Amino acid sequence: MENDNLKEEAENLLRELFPINRSITGSGVRKSLKILSKVADFEIKGVPSGTKCYDWEIPPEWELKDAYVEDSKGKRIIDIKDSNLHVMGYSTPVDRKVPYSELIAHIHTMSDMPDAIPYRTSYYDRKFGFCMKHRDFIALDKKETYHMYIDSSLKEGSLTYGERILKGTSGKEFIISTYCCHPSLANDNLSGMVLWVLLLRNLSKRKLRHTYRFVIAPETIGAIAYCSLNEEAMKNIEAGLVITTVAGPGKRGYKRSFMGSSIIDMAIEHVFRQSGIDFIRYPFDIQGSDERQFSSLPFRIPICTITKDKYYEYPYYHTSLDNLDFIKSDWLIEALGIYLKVIESLENSIVYAPLNHACEPMLGKRGAYPKTGGAINQNRKDAEKDKKSDLDVIKWILFLSDGKKTLLEISEETGIDSSRLNEAAIRLCKLSLLKEVK
Ligand code: ZN
Repeated sequence: MENDNLKEEAENLLRELFPINRSITGSGVRKSLKILSKVADFEIKGVPSGTKCYDWEIPPEWELKDAYVEDSKGKRIIDIKDSNLHVMGYSTPVDRKVPYSELIAHIHTMSDMPDAIPYRTSYYDRKFGFCMKHRDFIALDKKETYHMYIDSSLKEGSLTYGERILKGTSGKEFIISTYCCHPSLANDNLSGMVLWVLLLRNLSKRKLRHTYRFVIAPETIGAIAYCSLNEEAMKNIEAGLVITTVAGPGKRGYKRSFMGSSIIDMAIEHVFRQSGIDFIRYPFDIQGSDERQFSSLPFRIPICTITKDKYYEYPYYHTSLDNLDFIKSDWLIEALGIYLKVIESLENSIVYAPLNHACEPMLGKRGAYPKTGGAINQNRKDAEKDKKSDLDVIKWILFLSDGKKTLLEISEETGIDSSRLNEAAIRLCKLSLLKEVK
């Protein structure tokens, strides 16, 4: 029932947000963040145009009011009202009648996917462009005169981003980010925006051990701006997740961090294995999303991305076919469940040290051992999954807690669920047999 409500909510958000023309700046991002902030509270902030952020500068704000290409009879060949993707992002204004030969210098198509409008941008090289289906492009009359019209502006404004920090008690901090700059593209990146806000809402209602820094910003320039504004804080972040492409029909998977074996890689592997999900392990690659900034020097934060149909991997990527028919809110909510389990694993990644200095402690005198001999390995009803009795769990956690190993590593080694191990560890702490290492 709860999941049905979530699916419906995700579906409604996807439908509301999909038509909005987002870019790296402008009213589309602001409108989108406003809608999301009704789902979970976060602060909407701005960085003024022209602000220097390391080697970059915040660009002017781009607004697009209207755009079309018309033939001499007034027939619209391209109309922005049909798809936001028809105009290259950050196109400068134009109002010119030109022959076919000149028009085609400004047209982008994909000959290998004739029914898709490609997604193109030119943020830093000031020019204009139109994108259209290759099938429509080859049908154009070469003798016609075409009216190219783009009513856009590039003005001083700001880059908008969102932030919320959920405070924990451990002193460890993780970053959970997504980007919000793609117009009318569903899997990349609208699915990530919706999952991000639902995850934020879920965690904001919990008592958390660790701190989670939620950031939603335009890709690349937003992440760079965020790093430059929060340099010291970013240097202290343990690991993180960039949420994107979570609801496509393809296989589940995750992109490994640049370290390959960080706490976040380990938590994801753990969840996939425990859940019995068949997944693709994508190696770290220098092409990608905002891990390119967060993992760069001096931050070096290990970042992973858990996906369902990862960007680059599906043919509809960055085309008009990555639309609401391509993704499913069911898959998005399933992905939310995986992200939540990963957070739970991070929360359970605790280190315990023994208080008993040698050999096994005597559990019986503390009431922690079955009173009648021979009962060991018989109370398995609650532990069918990992085939371990409660006593097994107690014995394993006592045996392997050495003040260095995390509960997550113990879980990996024994196959016992990390939450179950943690419950036993908390009980053993109360019995003065273990202590938590901070
Ligand atoms: Zn993209």
